[in-house]
Amino acid sequence: MEQTCSERSESIRIPAKSLGELALPKFCPRCFWIKLHCNYKLPYQIFPGIFSSIDSYTKKITNMHFEQHERVPDWFSGFGVLGKPVKIPHHSKFSIVDPDTNILLTGVPDEILYSPNGSYFIIDYKTAKFTGTQDQLLPMYEVQLNSYAYIGERVGFKPVSGLGLLYYEPQTGISVDQIDSFILDDGFTMHFSGKLLPIKLKPDNIPQLLKRVREIYELSQVPNGVEGCKDCQLLDTLLSIAGGDTANR
Ligand code: SF4
Repeated sequence: MEQTCSERSESIRIPAKSLGELALPKFCPRCFWIKLHCNYKLPYQIFPGIFSSIDSYTKKITNMHFEQHERVPDWFSGFGVLGKPVKIPHHSKFSIVDPDTNILLTGVPDEILYSPNGSYFIIDYKTAKFTGTQDQLLPMYEVQLNSYAYIGERVGFKPVSGLGLLYYEPQTGISVDQIDSFILDDGFTMHFSGKLLPIKLKPDNIPQLLKRVREIYELSQVPNGVEGCKDCQLLDTLLSIAGGDTANR
């Protein structure tokens, strides 16, 4: 009897956003291979907590607005008629194992809205300046959202009828005559302006990307990096300095 991939190959876990790296114009197979083999635990990775605080605040705004007014805030309306926010499953529940590649694809969407027509709309929030389709990371976000659609339809959120990015752009341009409206007794407020970008629904591309992940993972040697990458040159310098010091460790 023929073995399935899950019987013959080591399992791999990949977050939806990391799968999206494959779509970036500056994709580096070397970086990707290293991250896959280190299970995304790399040194010198410090993620500022402020972004997860803003993320969680943003979700509260949507949910509490719905609780108060039984509709999502007005700035969502460019996405069409959206229904109510649903509880986002824990990442251990919002995942699938692809049987062809034995890859566990995971992710946690920022928002899933259940539409009156019985379908689901998935949104991811970005705290960043809105540049429309000029965002260099857009190809990665497109795959990330389509991965959520691919997973969602397999774990109970079927059908997914649409995807979108919602950029919350910090409004940093203020003038003297506005200053009092930003000042509180114990600090100040900052306004975030919501900008929408609908994303094309094409989850059928995901299995092909997972196959590519498996191919890169199975390479017996780390592949070459992007030519001229300054980070790799810095790493070489670091290794040559550290190499002289390993005897003292
Ligand atoms: S070339 Fe750049 S992107 Fe590629 S492995 Fe080196 S540091 Fe990473």
